[in-house]
Amino acid sequence: MTPDGLRQIADALALAARAHAGQSRKGHPDQPQIVHIADVAVRVLRSADADTETMIAALLHDTVEDTDVTLYQIEESFGKTIAGIVAELTDDPTLPEAERRRRQVQEAPTRSGRARRIKLADKASNLAALATADPSAVGEDERQTYLAWALDMLAALRGTDAVLEADLAAEAERLRLALGLAPGEGAE
Ligand code: ZN
Repeated sequence: MTPDGLRQIADALALAARAHAGQSRKGHPDQPQIVHIADVAVRVLRSADADTETMIAALLHDTVEDTDVTLYQIEESFGKTIAGIVAELTDDPTLPEAERRRRQVQEAPTRSGRARRIKLADKASNLAALATADPSAVGEDERQTYLAWALDMLAALRGTDAVLEADLAAEAERLRLALGLAPGEGAE
């Protein structure tokens, strides 16, 4: 990795930490959202095909969707390639959540390899958070809905990356156990 790549990774981490300040991780009001961001970056690096751009985009993957950071700002600081990957990972905020999730599954196979890897790591990280979430912070219905959706996403992304697909499947299994469902249950 070049010194420039390392500097951009540090810059992306700093930007994400500032931008997500005050937000908490899904199902864990006691954990800052940057724990999720760092977890996605660590998971995506398990792939033999993860490169510097994947790492930087992983650190920025929720900034445009969940904070005041804009794609323009990301392009100015990190260039077109990174901004393009983040754009692939950003839902249309005007759509209701169910429709956003349906479109994510539908469009997943058309996304770039880097975006697909980050998607797999993102869903694995959220499943892990939900498996250990305090039930008062996130209800069983919401956890089951997320589980079913993550499994749909896994099916849509099959063939992307064996390591990251196995990681997502393992986290889905953990959440299934936490919910008291039988193996294989939970898919729609
Ligand atoms: Zn995320």
